[in-house]
Amino acid sequence: MSAVTPAPANTETRVNLFDLDRTGLEQFFDSIGEKKFRAHQIMKWIHHRYVTEFAEMTDLGKALRSKLEERAVVHVPQVLFDKISDDGTQKWLLGMDPRNAIETVYIPEKNRGTLCVSSQVGCALNCQFCSTATQGFNRNLSTAEIIGQVWVAARALGNIPHQQRRLTNVVMMGMGEPLANFDNVVRAMSIMRDDLGYGLANKRVTLSTAGMVPQIDKLAEVADVSLAVSLHAPFDELRTELVPLNRKYPINELMAACVRYAKRKKGTSVTFEYTLMKGVNDGPEHARGLAKLMRQFDNAVQMKDAAKVNLIPFNPFPGTRFERPEESSIREFQTLMMESKVLTMVRRTRGDDIDAACGQLKGQVMDRTRRQAQFLQHLAQTQSQ
Ligand code: SF4
Repeated sequence: MSAVTPAPANTETRVNLFDLDRTGLEQFFDSIGEKKFRAHQIMKWIHHRYVTEFAEMTDLGKALRSKLEERAVVHVPQVLFDKISDDGTQKWLLGMDPRNAIETVYIPEKNRGTLCVSSQVGCALNCQFCSTATQGFNRNLSTAEIIGQVWVAARALGNIPHQQRRLTNVVMMGMGEPLANFDNVVRAMSIMRDDLGYGLANKRVTLSTAGMVPQIDKLAEVADVSLAVSLHAPFDELRTELVPLNRKYPINELMAACVRYAKRKKGTSVTFEYTLMKGVNDGPEHARGLAKLMRQFDNAVQMKDAAKVNLIPFNPFPGTRFERPEESSIREFQTLMMESKVLTMVRRTRGDDIDAACGQLKGQVMDRTRRQAQFLQHLAQTQSQ
């Protein structure tokens, strides 16, 4: 990633209204002696019309506008650059503070447009096949910084909620583990699903987790969104090697939490993400092990196709030790899964010419874990060999 112009330091002390969902905004207006419906007006200005200057919010009286100028601000992330892939995939690098930037990706398809949103600057979980992990971790994103990604993309795409939808789905699958930033992510997802926000149906907002078991249960209590789980291996030993979080929450505990999540509401399915890596987890024994887990899940939920599998052929990045399997192995794996009656899709690679494919996201992370330095050292060694 080339060097970026730093975003200005945030010395703002006023409330950033981007940080507040409908309930928070209603409380804010109540606290300044205003009626609740003002919150609704503001949400429409910000999320439907993309207006961030109070002076332009013409249905607010002059006195209210100057009150807002004194106490609040609508601060959006700074676009450091954007890039469009040959296949229409679009990527934004967004400055979150003077030293950190994250990436957001839009993937247009025939009948839908999906935005892949980041939840943290970097990621602390260190999954071995993930480019984000090599950058280490700096901090959680605020609600404003998460919903700000949706705002930037929706505005650039000319999206008008309820009328001209260019953005139909949001997946919390960008940089970071969303459940490690629980409150901010839940609040941002609430704005995505609110009619006064982006008006997305619950099932069109997907949270993807590497498997934080207690937080999956907590999520079930507060947000009705689609759940995706990064599984990547059907056996504990291999999964622990690929997804170190598995040491803490092994497969049986993770699957049990997924069953609880699906059972809380009739008709809920869970998507299991499985990155296929050549010679690592793409053999017939892995397919059979995965199919067995998925059938057990369907039985426990008592629903056909409660488990859906997304196979993601590994997207290489510099310095990685993993490789993408041959096309024939990918098809064989899928066939074995389908023969075992498990609904299995292969995710087509999108945006790899601009490093926007799944697992390739990299922002600019002032690493606090030393992992980035170690990875760069490893990269320099392998390149000099
Ligand atoms: S795959 Fe997700 S959870 Fe794992 S390191 Fe990458 S961003 Fe973090």
